[in-house]
Amino acid sequence: MRRAIYPGSFDPVTNGHLDIIERASGLFDELVVSVAVNIGKNPMFTLEERTEMLRHTCRHIPNVKVDNFETLTVRYAESVGAQAIIRGLRAVSDFEYEFEMALMNRRLNDNIEMVFLMTNAEYSYLRASIIKEIAGLGGSVKGLVPEIAEEYLKRKLNIGTK
Ligand code: ADP
Repeated sequence: MRRAIYPGSFDPVTNGHLDIIERASGLFDELVVSVAVNIGKNPMFTLEERTEMLRHTCRHIPNVKVDNFETLTVRYAESVGAQAIIRGLRAVSDFEYEFEMALMNRRLNDNIEMVFLMTNAEYSYLRASIIKEIAGLGGSVKGLVPEIAEEYLKRKLNIGTK
């Protein structure tokens, strides 16, 4: 069984993430999308909220599981029996960080392969931080994030609930 993990902060999940998930799920027998606890990014959403949004977003893809983890990514991959770690690349700016992480991960376990999927051009400018900024300033993020994430953002920002 070929299994991969797709780790990230997913704060919140975007259509860019979903595109990577849909494509990666076609390459492996099982894809475990996993929310990283320890991200040092001061997330807007709790681990439970991020996990719940992903569960809802991925429920139409039968070979995708959603989980979360607190350890080193490579250790987590080993613990679920994955042979590969999926990452998405948007622009050259992602490359340097991903390259360093890939080399470090290989040092930790060279049996686990890093697999990079290139962003869909439509989503190349999408990152969770921009979504939060736009939503926070009252802009619409329709079509950029799954509907469930839109609802969570509105609730968190108290938009339309008063
Ligand atoms: P973000 O950078 O949006 O906060 P994460 O930290 O959750 O997202 O990223 C998880 C993985 O998904 C990373 O490999 C990141 O490069 C990738 N990713 C995020 N957004 C996109 C996108 N629009 N297209 C392709 N890959 C993406």
